[in-house]
Amino acid sequence: RDKTGNNSNLARIRVVVRKRPLNKKELSRKEEDIITINDVESSLTVNEPKVKVDLTAYIERHEFVFDAVLNQHVSNDEVYRSTVEPIVPTIFNRTKATCFAYGQTGSGKTYTMQPLPLRACQDIMSIMQQPSHRNQGLQLWLSFFEIYGGKLYDLLNERRKLCMREDGRQQVCIVGLKEFRVSDVELVKEYIDKGNASRSTGSTGANEESSRSHAILQLVVKKAQEGKEVSRVVGKISFIDLAGSERGADTTDNDRQTRMEGAEINKSLLALKECIRALDNDQGHIPFRGSKLTEVLRDSFVGDSRTVMISCISPNAGSCEHTLNTLRYADRVK
Ligand code: ADP
Ligand code: MG
Repeated sequence: RDKTGNNSNLARIRVVVRKRPLNKKELSRKEEDIITINDVESSLTVNEPKVKVDLTAYIERHEFVFDAVLNQHVSNDEVYRSTVEPIVPTIFNRTKATCFAYGQTGSGKTYTMQPLPLRACQDIMSIMQQPSHRNQGLQLWLSFFEIYGGKLYDLLNERRKLCMREDGRQQVCIVGLKEFRVSDVELVKEYIDKGNASRSTGSTGANEESSRSHAILQLVVKKAQEGKEVSRVVGKISFIDLAGSERGADTTDNDRQTRMEGAEINKSLLALKECIRALDNDQGHIPFRGSKLTEVLRDSFVGDSRTVMISCISPNAGSCEHTLNTLRYADRVK
């Protein structure tokens, strides 16, 4: 569905769904897997268990079609190859690429997202090492930050609070964000682990708190400019592990803090959907001001861009409602 009607891996916007396997807990409860996938047609069906007023049980089927649908046996490496790998070379051509993981808490966003930047780095570095005069003076830089309750925190600099500014040329600048120049993949892995370890974790456990924040890892290719101290940005790719989509519904919680966070998450996920839709329609106006998340990603929504949304879903019957919400969101984006 790119501008020429092709459904290629290089389309400007691709929406891919990934289903995780039933976990131990779900298996021990004998929960049913309600998702059937048709790989050939890249479609999936949610078989929703329902009960009539007279208490007879029946199944309501909901069918969806996406650019790709990945079943529970697909490895992280295959995920990389069908989502990020095709767009990596585009960032050497001034493109801004973005990969999102969307879905309810526990659906596999972090599991899916964590290995992707590392694999991308390997590919980026091997392109940089190709002998070509265009590749001379290229550098790779990494940063990792979090949006929590509408505020920015540097995950690679002791969670320092950051603020955002726009320069005169509508470029976003996150003041004080630490960027690290990386030249070997081992180092990249260390940064990723370090950043993940400093994601917001409350006393209630890591998944609980980190599910309320968006984590953004950016890899930026720059080129040294002769006689100048600052390098020029060639292109970049951002990896975004979004807050749990169900958190957007925490707007009636008794706890004020939770309620406010819920409202912020809701706002940002809605704004994100609107921005991606505007991208696809080639609208001049992109409503990025709708939230901190979309403001931060502003330069990824203008000019030449590639967006991959990986929608993660849980297979168990108990998650049916959240799964349908995730698929409807994904359906609106594509
Ligand atoms: P989220 O980030 O969406 O809250 P996680 O990525 O933390 O979810 O996944 C929840 C649990 O399920 C983790 O223990 C993770 O290892 C496991 N998991 C997620 N996706 C898969 C998968 N495709 N295959 C195997 N285990 C998975
Ligand atoms: Mg997570």
